[in-house]
Amino acid sequence: MKIFNTLTRTKEEFKPIHEGEVRMYVCGPTVYNFIHIGNARPMIVFDTVRRYFEYKGYKVNYVSNFTDVDDKIIKAANEEGVDTDTISKRYIAECRKDMEGMNIEPATRNPLATEEISGMIEMIQSLIDGGHAYVAKDGTVYFRVKSDPEYGKLSHKNMDDLESAFTERTLKVSGEDQKEDPNDFVLWKPMKPGEPYWDSPWCKGRPGWHIECSVMAKRYLGATIDIHAGGEDLIFPHHENEIAQSESANGVPFAHYWMHNAFLNINGVKMSKSLGNFRTVRQISEKYDLQVLRLFMLSAQYRSPLNFTPELMEAAKTSLLRIRTAAEAQEEALKKAEDRPLTEEEQKNLEQLKGYVAKFEAAMDDDFNTADAVSAVFELVRFSNSTVSGSSAKAYVRQVKDTMDKLCGVLGIITEVKEEMLDADIEKMIADRQAARKAKNYALADQIRNDLQAKGIILEDTKDGVKWRRA
Ligand code: AMP
Ligand code: ZN
Repeated sequence: MKIFNTLTRTKEEFKPIHEGEVRMYVCGPTVYNFIHIGNARPMIVFDTVRRYFEYKGYKVNYVSNFTDVDDKIIKAANEEGVDTDTISKRYIAECRKDMEGMNIEPATRNPLATEEISGMIEMIQSLIDGGHAYVAKDGTVYFRVKSDPEYGKLSHKNMDDLESAFTERTLKVSGEDQKEDPNDFVLWKPMKPGEPYWDSPWCKGRPGWHIECSVMAKRYLGATIDIHAGGEDLIFPHHENEIAQSESANGVPFAHYWMHNAFLNINGVKMSKSLGNFRTVRQISEKYDLQVLRLFMLSAQYRSPLNFTPELMEAAKTSLLRIRTAAEAQEEALKKAEDRPLTEEEQKNLEQLKGYVAKFEAAMDDDFNTADAVSAVFELVRFSNSTVSGSSAKAYVRQVKDTMDKLCGVLGIITEVKEEMLDADIEKMIADRQAARKAKNYALADQIRNDLQAKGIILEDTKDGVKWRRA
């Protein structure tokens, strides 16, 4: 299995630290709003990576954090007049709902920054003791970048380039002139009025962003882990700084493989909160089954930029339907299929079936090329449609079905058709029912109510209008 390692900029053969085990850490979202579909890309991609390792027989220990203390969370809390905990808890719960919709396997652990403060203080102290960090006069603790001769090895930046970038701007801003070197970064910062804070040996305050991942990865996975992953915007400074902290504190390599997904763009422009051109996963779920979003994300290899367009989403919807139609046909065939030994032709077909599996695995073994893996699944779908029927041998149908389910399972695509209605369709039927009532067509109104009930949607007429819930 080959993985492109950002550290060496080459595809390398994967060798786990512990036989049969993968320990991976994926930087998770900052929870101050609903996640957008850009954030969903690393979630879907690295969940698929995990699923493929599991398919290959590895036990995967998968850790992904929630950053629940940060300037943006504080800002959102102030705007609403609530505390930061209210904001972060709310959006962690919403994020979990979205992840469930996207069929992301629950992580082995989702640590929260605010629950790991003592570990962060401990690591910062050990960095100070080792000469890798210092305390400025206002109590801010900085990492001393010059103490790490390897700083810049992940982003392939050299210190001279970094320094010349800094001479251009004034360091007086926000007290940065108290740094020994412009590249030094914050490990701990003093509180400002109205902000959440913790006691520390240096001042009442809170951690810088980078330290949480170094601490959580070590605590839950060990000082050296197999894979560390995230979006490509995290390479610098976040991951560069994580490496500097962890390797200076632990004296061993932090991660053997660094994986980074490319960005999701929208109409050719980077999608981000600051540009205001983002779509939340929740908005997409109003129009599409989130399995469509998942299939769309996997239609490109994770290191290629991906452009979000309505046309590509519609194409993914059609593709998902093709998979499910084939799965339905297999179910139907199984009901009628004959309990008899395989014909010679069916035996030959099974050889062909193995070919699709080999193609799928070759694509995934080549740095998780899901684009080609998805193509292999569609070849299998076509093959299933043309060889599976009610007159096939039961064992043959079963084999084709199991193979397709297994490969789709690696992609996190559920072949079973869930008869769950989309929110938008439900709202539309409720509006039709209201219109029928207004026109005194009570028979039609009742009919719509019954249709919804048959699909597990319960209506309640309240004084504030019609409310609905899933049974
Ligand atoms: P954040 O909440 O901004 O820290 O982002 C959480 C994760 O989403 C990180 O791994 C980011 O790199 C990733 N991410 C954010 N925006 C995008 C995007 N437009 N495309 C792909 N990944 C993204
Ligand atoms: Zn991180």
